[in-house]
Amino acid sequence: MAGMHLIILGPPGSGKGTQAARVSAELGLEHLSTGDVLREAVSSRTPLGVEAEMYMKQGALVPDEVILGLIREELDRLGETGWILDGFPRTLAQAESLTAQLEERGETIDKVLLIDVDSEEIVRRLTSRRISSSCNPIYNLATMSGEELDTCEKCGGKLVKRPDDEEETVRRRLEVYEEQTAPVIDFYRKRGGLAAVRGAGSIDEITAELLRHLA
Ligand SMILES: [Zn+2]
Repeated sequence: MAGMHLIILGPPGSGKGTQAARVSAELGLEHLSTGDVLREAVSSRTPLGVEAEMYMKQGALVPDEVILGLIREELDRLGETGWILDGFPRTLAQAESLTAQLEERGETIDKVLLIDVDSEEIVRRLTSRRISSSCNPIYNLATMSGEELDTCEKCGGKLVKRPDDEEETVRRRLEVYEEQTAPVIDFYRKRGGLAAVRGAGSIDEITAELLRHLA
């Protein structure tokens, strides 16, 4: 039996990458994060990877047809294995192109999972993020209770806020998300098969809720 074909949507900071990884592990699906697929293609110098890199080096967006080409290659590779697409589609045009590409393959999307998180909660989460200035881990002050909130427990380095996590930047990213993704959500809602889950509660609770929609 062919595996499920899923899409996961959610604002930045909703934890959708984490949830996609958990859901795919639970159901034996491949987690297709378009960011990872893109990086992998670039580093292995595939023709589409080389093309994508050209745009990235110019600081330009990688065109939809390049991303769709990469997704096509991944789906060819996966065959009957099910998948969950994370990071695509982000716009209505991308959703329409993806639908057309899947139709050519005789495939459909079984379910679109939406992790719904209130904008103010996203702002709170993302602006509370700190990263160690000398080693890698990301800390979240919103979920920390210790007293040493400015020092990395691993290396003693200073915890700093990334420019991406400044409130103004977070709000701008959320606006872009709302503007681009609201039509995508509508598109899948009208087609049926959209399952919206409140992105509140523990990581385990959200995973369980998502899995209930897929049972
Ligand atoms: Zn550190």
